[in-house]
Amino acid sequence: MRNMRKLAVAAAALMAAAVLVTTLSAFVTESAAGGEGAPRICGLPFTGGIREKVSPVPGGPARAKEMAESVKAAAAAEAERAAREADPFWDRPQIDPESWEFILANPWHDIGGYTPELETLEGQRFDARIIGAMQAFSQAARDEGLSVFLSSGYRSYDEQSYLFRRKAAEYGEETAATIVARPGTSEHQTGLCCDITDRYYERKDRSLEETNLYQWMYEHCHEYGFILRFPEGKEDVTGIIYEPWHFRYVGEEAAAYIMEHDLTLEEFLDLYDKE
Ligand SMILES: [Zn+2]
Repeated sequence: MRNMRKLAVAAAALMAAAVLVTTLSAFVTESAAGGEGAPRICGLPFTGGIREKVSPVPGGPARAKEMAESVKAAAAAEAERAAREADPFWDRPQIDPESWEFILANPWHDIGGYTPELETLEGQRFDARIIGAMQAFSQAARDEGLSVFLSSGYRSYDEQSYLFRRKAAEYGEETAATIVARPGTSEHQTGLCCDITDRYYERKDRSLEETNLYQWMYEHCHEYGFILRFPEGKEDVTGIIYEPWHFRYVGEEAAAYIMEHDLTLEEFLDLYDKE
């Protein structure tokens, strides 16, 4: 009786040891093969050969690999969650905010007489560097059967000055400044934007947003590097009323990010000021 119990205890111990060795073997095999990120056994020297002494459990190494991958995935998810919590715009594109695509002209940033090298497209002038993008954007809209009209591109300081004085005579300077930018502060002076309307519907007011042209442009502008520059509800940030006709070039990467996160150019550039 006593011997039988001893035998049972010994057998149980042996089985437990076998299970332990098998498990360790799976991990160690994986550690040796897995390189960086593979699970390792702290403080246990790997002597090799353990694997030969036990029959491998079916799916042992595969299971260990699976576990290693899930540990890796969990760590990546955790790092991403922490980054997201620390900075909601953690995944912003790596751009140089000082680059020409990000020139900022608004009531608080006067660009004075800044003039880029200009090129003409469909009767409007633009910064020569965006002609290709402008062409691709309007052509893509035309391919959809939309009647694109490039209504206003680059304006010089003097032209902006004329428009502002004309509006100021009608509404007074303060109101005029919310409709037409003061000279030096108009985005049209950058040569990077365009007022785009429907050839058969040239009104520049919010009713433009009902047109198929606007809806298509809002949806696709980022694919060509453009953003809707003066969105609704962001008037205090941009200093300009909602303008569903005014599109601005910032490059494809920034445009995709700005449109996806409903940002203005001001808010986007602020993300880089903090760095
Ligand atoms: Zn405009």
